[in-house]
Amino acid sequence: SRRIRLDKLLSSMGHGSRAEIKRIVKAGRVAVDGRTEKDSGRVLDPEQEKVELDGQAVLFRDKIYLMLHKPPGVISATEDGRERTVIDLLAPEDRVLEPFPVGRLDKDTVGLLLLTNDGQLAHELLAPRKHVPKTYEALVRSAEPVGEREAELFRSGIELDDGYVTMPAELETLGCKEAGADDPGEETDGGALSSVRLTIREGKFHQVKRMFQAAGGRVVHLKRVSMGPLVLDDRLPIGTYRELTEAELASLQ
Ligand code: URA
Repeated sequence: SRRIRLDKLLSSMGHGSRAEIKRIVKAGRVAVDGRTEKDSGRVLDPEQEKVELDGQAVLFRDKIYLMLHKPPGVISATEDGRERTVIDLLAPEDRVLEPFPVGRLDKDTVGLLLLTNDGQLAHELLAPRKHVPKTYEALVRSAEPVGEREAELFRSGIELDDGYVTMPAELETLGCKEAGADDPGEETDGGALSSVRLTIREGKFHQVKRMFQAAGGRVVHLKRVSMGPLVLDDRLPIGTYRELTEAELASLQ
């Protein structure tokens, strides 16, 4: 059995901040097992005791699954002494169940990041032997446009700076143009700026950046668009998040 404070339970289910909950409880709007409870610090077992707010059952769940459109400038960790983390982007009630990021994106990388407190699911998605595909969209600066040469290198495996040879990965070229001083990366003209989509099935440190580096290019913008069956919702503004839908959750389990 588990024990949780009444105010913590109500706030984690999205019924308000701890202070708001305290007022709601004081006002006599909350009942436990059919009896009005005015102490918001009451400790109870949500699986055994029935909590109601304004006569409506409060359903307790102990797992949280969030899709975040990660913005640049925040790190994929739960806490850090100095840097802002992805957890700092969450509303207080969404932090109560202590979600953590499943895997890492670099500080400057944007896009899909799953946050959950489901350790089992996180493990399944991250286990190296599962080879869960992750797809990224990147802008790459290089002397020549990215094309079939890189696609073949990535298909057969490319040796990174530390000698590691990557597993087969799929590269698709979406478009390219001549790079100008106004483009991201560096304030110079010349060379090419290619827009690509890359799918990898492993997750070495800075893998995408290092793959392009090994091929003679430089990633100047990186966005993750999918992880296994989970696809970034393109209606989700950067820096915001939402709960996974039932269908998304089912696809992951
Ligand atoms: N590869 C990288 O280089 N950076 C990321 O954030 C993710 C994949």
